[in-house]
Amino acid sequence: MIEETLPVGPFQQNCRILACPVTGDAVVVDPGADASEIVARLVKIKTPNGKSLNVKMLLHTHAHLDHVGATRALKEMLQPGCQPVIALHEGDQQIYEQLASQSRMFGLNYGEPLPVDRFLKDGESFTVGILEFKVIHTPGHSPGGVCFHVVEKSEAGTSVAELLLSGDTLFQGSIGRTDLMGGNHAQLIGSIKSRLLPLNGGLRVCSGHGPDTTIGEEREENPFLR
Ligand SMILES: [Zn+2]
Ligand SMILES: [Zn+2]
Repeated sequence: MIEETLPVGPFQQNCRILACPVTGDAVVVDPGADASEIVARLVKIKTPNGKSLNVKMLLHTHAHLDHVGATRALKEMLQPGCQPVIALHEGDQQIYEQLASQSRMFGLNYGEPLPVDRFLKDGESFTVGILEFKVIHTPGHSPGGVCFHVVEKSEAGTSVAELLLSGDTLFQGSIGRTDLMGGNHAQLIGSIKSRLLPLNGGLRVCSGHGPDTTIGEEREENPFLR
């Protein structure tokens, strides 16, 4: 799969571009800031067979400011060539709608967000070219927090590459904070232990901030999950 990471904005949030290497269909995950830089990167990427990317979705692990701050600007900049669907779990709708007040708390001045086009549901799957995305609801850092398990399938249907986008739920050696809007520590620990740690130990975990890790490493070493 085509995979690029751009740490964006003052919180250095890992915005990810994931794209199908065959069709060029793409998603942007957590466009938290710097819409122009994200567009500039998208324009540069070509598939191995020379196709430009067609952004189908703007996916969000949750609705904190540093993950949704550039969603409106990015969608508006990509139109009319691309018509990306804004997707979020319904549990974070309220936080999403409070973008303007969230931004004022940090001395920033963001406008009203665009409407959510699609609510993500726990356990649902959808495909983007040959990439399959599975939604795992992991509330705790926020009520509608989700992780995305992304699998690239070969023509024969076998998995050739995979990763987990964990948002601010799980980090290398740490877990998400729960003192922000809608946080719940016990629920977060429960989500990680019941939904993430049972996944394949070799699965690469791509967090919302900081370096990648693996499920196995966090299962063994993460001091918050003892
Ligand atoms: Zn967050
Ligand atoms: Zn964050």
